[in-house]
Amino acid sequence: MTSATNASSATGTAFAANLAAAETLLTRFRAKPLGHFIDGREVPGSSGALFDNHSPIDGGLINQVHAGNAADVDAAARAAERAFPAWAALSGTARKRILHKVADGILARATDIAILESLDSGQPIRFMSKAAERAAENFRFFADRAPDAANGLSLPADTHLNLTLRQPLGPVAVITPWNTPFMLSTWKIAPALAAGCTVVHKPAEWSPLTAMLLAEIMTEAGVPAGVVNLVNGLGEEAGKSLTEHPAIKAVAFVGESSTGSHIMAQGAPTLKRVHFELGGKNPVIVFDDADLDRALDAVVFMIYSLNGQRCTSSSRLLVQRGIHDAFIDRLAERVARITVGHPLDPATEVGPLVHERHLGKVLGYCAIAREDGATVRVGGTRAEGLGTGGHYVRPTLFTNATNRMRIAQEEIFGPVLTAIPFTDEAEAVAIANDIPYGLTGYVWTRDVGRANRVALKLDAGMVWINSENNRHLPTPFGGMKASGIGRDGGDYSFDFYMETKNICVALDTHAVPKLGV
Ligand code: NAD
Repeated sequence: MTSATNASSATGTAFAANLAAAETLLTRFRAKPLGHFIDGREVPGSSGALFDNHSPIDGGLINQVHAGNAADVDAAARAAERAFPAWAALSGTARKRILHKVADGILARATDIAILESLDSGQPIRFMSKAAERAAENFRFFADRAPDAANGLSLPADTHLNLTLRQPLGPVAVITPWNTPFMLSTWKIAPALAAGCTVVHKPAEWSPLTAMLLAEIMTEAGVPAGVVNLVNGLGEEAGKSLTEHPAIKAVAFVGESSTGSHIMAQGAPTLKRVHFELGGKNPVIVFDDADLDRALDAVVFMIYSLNGQRCTSSSRLLVQRGIHDAFIDRLAERVARITVGHPLDPATEVGPLVHERHLGKVLGYCAIAREDGATVRVGGTRAEGLGTGGHYVRPTLFTNATNRMRIAQEEIFGPVLTAIPFTDEAEAVAIANDIPYGLTGYVWTRDVGRANRVALKLDAGMVWINSENNRHLPTPFGGMKASGIGRDGGDYSFDFYMETKNICVALDTHAVPKLGV
């Protein structure tokens, strides 16, 4: 449970190596405040204002960062605007070559990215090393599709031929959260670049380190100056200015549902196209005929991996009454055994939460659970023995909850699971859908008919049957209700980053209407 125990384990050597590598990687961030990346190079902010980036591990200062303002955003948006015509005119094959080089660059620096991401966000290194690989896969996937991104349909009519095709939209904003910052930003930046758009990225202020690495990797790979720009800063200032900027044609946003509402209002005067991936309070439904061993593994993984700071996490567990008590007993045992520790320790399964404020929010829900009459079966407090100042919480399981309690209705976004019993299929669906969110749903049963009936009825953009969140890049990713607007993935991404144009060509056989003859 303690980092000391972890360090003495077989993984101790790797832990020590990660700590040493982290010190080296941090040197540049400590030497001077982290700037913006505009028109191909790192630049300081125009106002000189800085903000502090704190460590999830001990609360200490990691580094200082330039706080972008409207002038910095304007410089970045204008650079993206200038770079757009040439990037859009480049052939898809040329963009494909460059984006594959970006993927190569990410893989070459995968360890550095993973270490910095863990330090900055508190996410355990065991997950972050895979996140860098996933980021490279995102670039490869969209690189391969770049040559065909413009393709459309042929829709012949009697007297005219109609050709549809897609053209890049222009400079777009990408605004990302802190939970898996590097990987998430590549979901947006890779398809935008493949489509021929230019980008201004505003990363989350709680995890700014790796965005600069990505900008540098892209530039080294041959992405021309101005095609990708990065403005650090606070959401209310840098983020807001970006969503209001007239040169920016669309906003791809990942974050909280309430921020999505603000962005929609901010973008309204300039008629921004928006794509929102927002919060979730996703149900995992375990029926009594399920493969309970596999279901248990998936239930534990989908809320306690990535510190529970994951939009697709199954944070509401609905268990059929006949198996409820036995399943919860086994679950409680597993949750109590999860290893909490330093994020750079390969043995760590749950690391510290990203920020002191987020720690306060998560612990606040432990108090709310007690007040509302739920049982705190496991956890519910800070994790001890990991030094002072770190944002460590014990993996937590709430039982005897009802779906009307706040712990069942609100997104906690930590390693915290709320378990609720149900009697039959109808009740399971009713509880699952009784929520403002609609991102994902997970169904565990061996009854194929029931699995599909439930999947069809769930208010969710994505449903997995007998699986944890397993992502196939051509499939649509996104949510219903307060969980989002639009879909990512495969061709769905190009629909967002491109304009669809119809060209109608006459065969010169139709009668053109004559006026004033
Ligand atoms: P957040 O909404 O607070 O911040 C996200 C980003 O928006 C940050 O970069 C922030 O600076 C910026 N921002 C804040 N206010 C803004 C404004 N007025 N205008 C423009 N930009 C602004 O979210 P967070 O706390 O960083 O991230 C956690 C949330 O993200 C959770 O709700 C989680 O579910 C969600 N999320 C969703 C998905 C998904 O795919 N649906 C994936 C990951 C995370």
